Amino acid sequence: MQSQQRSFRWDVHDMTRPQPPAVQTGAACVMTPPSDAIVLFGGSDTSKWVKAGSESPIGWKADGGVLSIVPRTGDIATRDSFGDCQFHIEWMVPTDLKCDGQKGCNSGIFFMSRYELQILNSSGNVTYVDGMAGSMYGQHPPLVNACRPQGQWNVYDVIFRGPRFDAAAGIVRTASMTVLLNGVLVQENSEVLGETAHMRRASYSPHGERAPIKLQDHGDALQFRNIWVRPLAAPAVAE
Ligand code: MG
Repeated sequence: MQSQQRSFRWDVHDMTRPQPPAVQTGAACVMTPPSDAIVLFGGSDTSKWVKAGSESPIGWKADGGVLSIVPRTGDIATRDSFGDCQFHIEWMVPTDLKCDGQKGCNSGIFFMSRYELQILNSSGNVTYVDGMAGSMYGQHPPLVNACRPQGQWNVYDVIFRGPRFDAAAGIVRTASMTVLLNGVLVQENSEVLGETAHMRRASYSPHGERAPIKLQDHGDALQFRNIWVRPLAAPAVAE
């Protein structure tokens, strides 16, 4: 299903699109999950995850409270499905990884297995702005560059709202993301334009209201910790 024809000021992955301003973030602090969160990874147990598209255990390694990508063992996905949610994840690009644009330090979170919030080292590593840390890949650059240097933990807090489809009307609500990176707003209720695509405009295909959350194996040994989710009810309405 194509979303209706729209014009855009910038091309997808436009290298001439200006870089967002850099922001120094506050000091890192540990945020333990709230009591009603579903802990997806708390330090050692990987049973909430499968190799994406299968029932097989993940090829990634859990050690010392950290979940590390084992490159080319494949994306991983939550065993359970989620739609609208609050999502927290901490990620780090180890200092021994060599970053070159999109290469060397790339991962991502795919909400509903389709809509990517990019993970990339964007500290001292320049790439197209709709592919940097805090971007919705190929769709929206972050408002600012709040990425910490390699070797430091970054924190995403996300409010994701999934799309709604109607058999007769097609899409009736597009998806959206509000994203804090290291406590700094980088996406504010940004409209998801469709399923994440590379070098082309995104479009939607109908799907259900829940699907697994996927983490990307882009071939780089990034690390994760403290991953949790809070499923959300429909947005509040005035009473
Ligand atoms: Mg990615």
